[in-house]
Amino acid sequence: MHRSLVGVSPRTYDVRTYGCQMNVHDSERIAGLLEAAGYVKAPDDSTPDVVVFNTCAVRENADNRLYGNLGHLLPTKKANPGMQIAVGGCLAQKDRGTIVERAPWVDVVFGTHNVGALPTLLERARVEQESQVELLEALEVFPSTLPTRRESAYRAWVSISVGCNNTCTFCIVPSLRGKERDRRPGDILREVQALVDDGVIEITLLGQNVNSYGAEFGQRDAFAQLLRACGDIDGLERVRFTSPHPRDFTDDVIDAMAETPNVMPSLHMPLQSGSDRVLKAMRRSYRADRYLGILDRVRAAMPDAAITTDIIVGFPGETDDDFAQTLDVVRAARFAGAFTFQYSKRPGTPAADMPDQVPPTVVAERYQRLVELVDDIAWTENKALHGATLEVLVAEGEGRKDDATHRLSGRARDNRLVHLAACDALPGDVVTARVTYAAPHHLVADDVLAVRRRTPRAPAQTAGVFVGLPSLRTC
Ligand code: SF4
Repeated sequence: MHRSLVGVSPRTYDVRTYGCQMNVHDSERIAGLLEAAGYVKAPDDSTPDVVVFNTCAVRENADNRLYGNLGHLLPTKKANPGMQIAVGGCLAQKDRGTIVERAPWVDVVFGTHNVGALPTLLERARVEQESQVELLEALEVFPSTLPTRRESAYRAWVSISVGCNNTCTFCIVPSLRGKERDRRPGDILREVQALVDDGVIEITLLGQNVNSYGAEFGQRDAFAQLLRACGDIDGLERVRFTSPHPRDFTDDVIDAMAETPNVMPSLHMPLQSGSDRVLKAMRRSYRADRYLGILDRVRAAMPDAAITTDIIVGFPGETDDDFAQTLDVVRAARFAGAFTFQYSKRPGTPAADMPDQVPPTVVAERYQRLVELVDDIAWTENKALHGATLEVLVAEGEGRKDDATHRLSGRARDNRLVHLAACDALPGDVVTARVTYAAPHHLVADDVLAVRRRTPRAPAQTAGVFVGLPSLRTC
């Protein structure tokens, strides 16, 4: 239903995103769908006609947060009767009709498999004046075929697969996102080419387990081949991917990373625990020595690679000795950074019913020790870059909000966050600069040596800020 009729203001929307990169990318699709249907993004500080919550079921207290946010919106909705509220994402897929029972002022509930139905459901709810709840058990259309409103003019997510065939006992993703579905390489590469034609220079290939990509169509080396094929796309300067899985990580992928110049020297590979006993209980079918072996081979092939990870502390049954093994692996791995999480029960996961849940005070104490170690190592690794020359892709946003010098910020090739001295670069430009200061979580490069302009001098019309680390754990 297009609403750009003469004299009729288009309805405005706001998408509020929780959770992982999958959700961030899904939100771009939700925005794209709404814009294709005639909606426009609500200006800041205005009351949107449609608010979409793209939810996450992975985080602790996700339910409480959602219902709290819905409650906050109720008075606004009462004051603006035409306003509509939609809830999608993993929590919607999990809670289904419960959402409109607990919050009857919600107009639409849609799931992870039918994002494309949102505009129709909103319209139906308006016409019928009744909440619409529609969830599917399997994927209807591969999401990347839906329109997308990208948050960045220069960087883009590209889905290569959705769903997951693993059964990690702490994770609810497989039951909400379904079995892995792989997109065909030709479709992916066409999308990448179209993005590059549109000015994108950095893409991140996205899947719950990129290393099992190709399993659905029976090609074991499909992910390595995909990386190499991305290397043949003129104008594509940076290729990243998330998430790899240590179980399926094969040497052909390391070779492809090392031999494809536009594949960046960075790897975010979840460890989760350094204890083999805990990994087994998590149903993570690799062991610490395999994990460290992959890192050795990555570093042998790409000595400048920055490696980051995810770690869960306090998984049920984790002993002091198990935790000590995690610290040992962290010391050996020398991560450039880590997303660290205190285990908490996620309803619907096998681990939630396991005996020997670790007391929260013990989890918190271990967590503190882990964070200190991770930060200490990351800082040491960052300090080793003092004086190094980096190539930084300037990101959207205005740099550090607390900084009166209005620094620019961006990502180095190895994905480290770098704050730059004020210069006349714009988002999308590539700045070569020397590192003058190192902190645990970022670098400062005040010695700007060169700016490679990729942008017209008028600021690009983009939204969003990409300067932060990815917000949540992968898998
Ligand atoms: S943690 Fe990742 S690999 Fe494990 S089941 Fe969840 S999505 Fe799959």
